[in-house]
Amino acid sequence: MKLLITGGAGFIGSAVVRFLIANTDWQIVNVDKLTYAANLDALEGVERSDRYLLVPIDINDRPAIEQVFKQHQPNAVMHLAAESHVDRSISGPAAFIETNIVGTYTLLEASRLYWLTLEESKRKQFRFHHVSTDEVYGDLAPEAPPFTETTPYTPSSPYSASKASSDHLIRAWHRTYGLPIVVTNCSNNYGPWQHQEKLIPLMISKALAGKALPVYGNGQQRRDWLYVDDHACALYRVLIAGRVGETYNIGGSNEYANIDVINEICELLDELEPRVSDSYSEQITYVTDRPGHDLRYAIDHRKITQELGWKPAESFSSGLRKTIQWYLQYQSLRQKISTT
Ligand code: NAD
Repeated sequence: MKLLITGGAGFIGSAVVRFLIANTDWQIVNVDKLTYAANLDALEGVERSDRYLLVPIDINDRPAIEQVFKQHQPNAVMHLAAESHVDRSISGPAAFIETNIVGTYTLLEASRLYWLTLEESKRKQFRFHHVSTDEVYGDLAPEAPPFTETTPYTPSSPYSASKASSDHLIRAWHRTYGLPIVVTNCSNNYGPWQHQEKLIPLMISKALAGKALPVYGNGQQRRDWLYVDDHACALYRVLIAGRVGETYNIGGSNEYANIDVINEICELLDELEPRVSDSYSEQITYVTDRPGHDLRYAIDHRKITQELGWKPAESFSSGLRKTIQWYLQYQSLRQKISTT
């Protein structure tokens, strides 16, 4: 198996690469533009493997992408490359349109033309796995049942609208051209190596630095949280066993209000990195809400569980503890490196 992964130097992509190098004998070609969101430290352990190769290019660079297909002849594509931060999509949507929509189109077309050159048995086995988000389903009413794979799309932010557009392109390429695709829509991820702009690492780093912990609005926005290694495992299951043309929702069954997440981070820090006088929770402050902020997302992941036997291994409290422990170790390692 030779997998072309895009965005493999990002938070989730690097977890997938680590998972695949550790648990399979696959060869991995990682196409990544290495934007501000990439972190090659997260790939340190796999970079030495002769089954791993980084190709630092933009998915919008059609000739370069075509060359990758020609040279490496992958059996499958797993597409994670994206602009992924909602706040950035509000202040600067152009990059989201460029990468998430136009870039996905460019990659899809290059994949389709390559796929057409394959002999029949390889053409049947080929997969294009598109990794997407539950945010495409939009805002969920407080008492409504969780999102299923047939929930209509009503994206709210430039980010989720760009991801929704890319999902539509993928499905159209399947329906119109027969490209063998699978789509996954996942809830909020957390875990080691996440970029510091995202909620959980932002709160951990600000708490440890003694800075204010900014909570949007009243902090009652509810999200379903999934530990990143559980997501990596689910993506693997879908790629090898998912039915062509199908969508699978992936979630952690861990629905929490943002303020509860922040309080739990503070409690764990009080235990793992205690301060003499006060609790980290005293740093919590409320700031103006994000425009168009969705109140609730929740995922019904029964389809992937029943069909493919996947379920999350981590509870929210075990995953959050691991994340904070990792963060504390990583921070002290970085401090040691910067002082030597
Ligand atoms: P990330 O921002 O951490 O990483 C994105 C990666 O894509 C980076 O390595 C970046 O360099 C690369 N990239 C960006 N633009 C590129 C381009 N034009 N060409 C090539 N590479 C490019 O993102 P993430 O959090 O790891 O998310 C990965 C995917 O999973 C995204 O598609 C995202 O929409 C989806 N997703 C994320 C979450 C989450 O909670 N983080 C949840 C569900 C789905």
